[in-house]
This record gives sequence, structure tokens and C-alpha cells, in this order.
Amino acid sequence: MPTFVRTDQCDGCKGRDKTACMDICPHDLMKLDRDGSETGHAMRAFNQEPEQCWECYACVKQCPQQAIECRHSADVVPMGASVQPLRGTGSIVWTITFRKGNMKQFEFPIRTTPEGSIDPYGSKPEADIAKIGEPGFFTLGGVQKPGNPDELIRK
Ligand code: SF4
Ligand code: SF4
Repeated sequence: MPTFVRTDQCDGCKGRDKTACMDICPHDLMKLDRDGSETGHAMRAFNQEPEQCWECYACVKQCPQQAIECRHSADVVPMGASVQPLRGTGSIVWTITFRKGNMKQFEFPIRTTPEGSIDPYGSKPEADIAKIGEPGFFTLGGVQKPGNPDELIRK
């Protein structure tokens, strides 16, 4: 489900040397067509290799114009529909517009702590390496074999 740029919404990041989508794409797929010679749309970005898209949607979330959408599979979203995520500080809202024009929105939390903070242990106690050999240390029910200290890379 690669991404594509809506040329009616993209503003080329106002002519910056490197647009937001170019800057964030881990696969260097986004490109600004400055003179329109590649797409027919001058100063609009495009995904130059959709089949190479990782579908990470970093560009979708990063675009300040909400100009990038993803082509979801027909079995997920019927042909002709569109999918648009909008990231907030605490959640992301996915808007699905069906081909008949009706719309559905799904909001998912993206943080468990306030923005700018982390809680890497999720309020759980820090691992105690001295207990590594205790049955059930890794799982509540003890259904997995306990870790063998001899197999540990970090001792
Ligand atoms: S980030 Fe959005 S507005 Fe900026 S160039 Fe890319 S698609 Fe266009
Ligand atoms: S979805 Fe990810 S890999 Fe694909 S174009 Fe956007 S940033 Fe690049």
C-alpha cells in the first residue's frame, strides 16, 4: 500500500531545498519535481518508486499539507476510496473516505506518556538479572523454559 501525493494539496514545501517528505523518507523515494518535467506538476513532490515503498507512512504523517495519501488494498478499502492519517500529539486519526463520499474516522492513541517523556519499563520493575534462572521469570505462568544463563550473550 504505497503512498502518493495529491498535487492539489502539495505546495512543494514552499520551495525548500529538501521537502519534509524527502527529509523523512527512509528509502529516499520522495522527490520534488521542480519544473514539472517528470510528472507534469511543477513544484509538487511525488513517490518516484512506489513499488519500493516501505509503507512506513512517515511521509504521510510528516507532510504539513496532509497532501500524501496511501493506496490501501482493495480488500481493505474499496477502489476509489482514500485514506488519510492526521497525527496529533497524543493520537493519530485515520480518515477513510469511501467512493460514495461517506466517511469513517478511527482514532488511536500513539503515546502512553505525555509528549516529550518516556517510560521504557512501562511502570514495571527493572529486570533483575539475578533471577534469570527462576522458572516463570519471563512469563507469568512459567510455560516457557527459563533462561539459561550459559546462553546469555550479556552475562
Ligand atoms: S511534505 Fe507534503 S507539501 Fe511538502 S513537498 Fe512533500 S507532499 Fe508536498
Ligand atoms: S511510506 Fe515511508 S518508505 Fe514510503 S515513501 Fe513514505 S516515507 Fe518513504
